[in-house]
Amino acid sequence: MFESLSDKLSGILGSLTRRGALTENDVNEALREVRRALLEADVALEVVRSFTDTVRSRAVGAEVIKSVSPGQMVVKIVHDALVEMLGKEAEGIDLNAPAPVGILMVGLQGSGKTTTTAKIARRLSDRMKRRVLMASLDTRRPAAMEQLAVLGKQVGVDTLPIVAGQSAVQIARRAMEAARLGGYDVVMLDTAGRVTVDEALMAEAAEVRAATAPHEVLLVADSLTGQDAVNTAKAFDGRLGVTGIVLTRMDGDGRGGAALSMRAVTGKPIKLVGTGEKVDALEEFHPGRVANRILGMGDIVSLVEKAAETIDAEKAKRIADKMRKGAFDLDDLREQLGQMEKIGGMKGVLGMLPGIGKMKAQLENANLDDKVIRRQRAIIDSMTPKERRNPDILKASRKKRIAAGSGTKVEDVNKLLKMHRQMADVMKMMGKGGRGGMGGALGK
Ligand code: GDP
Repeated sequence: MFESLSDKLSGILGSLTRRGALTENDVNEALREVRRALLEADVALEVVRSFTDTVRSRAVGAEVIKSVSPGQMVVKIVHDALVEMLGKEAEGIDLNAPAPVGILMVGLQGSGKTTTTAKIARRLSDRMKRRVLMASLDTRRPAAMEQLAVLGKQVGVDTLPIVAGQSAVQIARRAMEAARLGGYDVVMLDTAGRVTVDEALMAEAAEVRAATAPHEVLLVADSLTGQDAVNTAKAFDGRLGVTGIVLTRMDGDGRGGAALSMRAVTGKPIKLVGTGEKVDALEEFHPGRVANRILGMGDIVSLVEKAAETIDAEKAKRIADKMRKGAFDLDDLREQLGQMEKIGGMKGVLGMLPGIGKMKAQLENANLDDKVIRRQRAIIDSMTPKERRNPDILKASRKKRIAAGSGTKVEDVNKLLKMHRQMADVMKMMGKGGRGGMGGALGK
């Protein structure tokens, strides 16, 4: 599927990773090529734009980890942005509702809707051991009803007996009722498709939706139609409220744009992808794996991830050692606060420090949100190196200057100093093996 895009991207990024140093110009040049490759793959312009903006701003601001090259860092940034664009987590079909759970299948004729209905039914019954009932609501095409019945036999899933002359809504109601009486877990409703999006099609699907209140409304879209698939999804979602998307024909040699734009444009997750005509050709959509397939650089990505983890763990350990020896100064606190900000607050960093678990709740109560952390770093930044190493020398006049320099109040400076003293004291005590006074030292 993503072969041609994958070739291009790995070419562009591969040449970056082979270089020792990178200038902003190198990054910009590479991003221009990335942009071209994405547009050629038929990814929506607005998506390409926001993607390259994200990568550029992160790459320019990124702190390069010592053990990896700047190019490898850029690969990781591109990879992460790609995963975000694709939707981060894999989202499967949600069956978390009282039985029978309704799944409404919508989409254009020829998109692969009926085949996909049978594929999903097979998966739910074989793998998840659910009792599934399928019903075709395509009253205009008896052949479509027959097709579903044939597929049902093939995959071993029951289909609702065909009754001539019923409307789509009548069939849907009958299916829900039959499922209730028959003890089925899931009802799959295969609505009629049209060649293009039209009002009659939408109105009928909306009526069925209102009558049956399905838990999932899955749009089936043909990935080979590229941006048209995305526009179709937008139209269906606007009118019906789609809960997820199934992209079919991902086995074809399409350019891949639909898969890449779908999430960003519609905000709806791609839940499954069709990869062939056979009834077992259905796969879950894992954004991380897909990004790896597109970039073909899984090794570099995990290398950078590992390096980042080790660096953070090493830093935390170094600080923890100093804390224990009672040599924890304001420079260390500053570094600690910086890490907190990066990792996302107190919890992340405390989790890395050995033996600090019990202090967690108290420190969290101290209201250390990002704004507070930034303010505290600003206070430390306004001190001289000597003051940071030995805050005891701070006089009232200096505190006033520091408060002014950091845009805070003397009260804030005092609070920070108190917090530092308490942390240092607790650590010293723990270092000596006296854990008893820990609560008292921090309690207010
Ligand atoms: P519907 O009109 O939307 O119900 O479409 P169908 O389910 O009848 O599918 C139309 C054609 O597309 C059939 O020949 C299917 O076998 C084929 N098809 C469906 N999904 C896939 C897929 O993921 N890959 C490939 N290669 N063919 C598919």
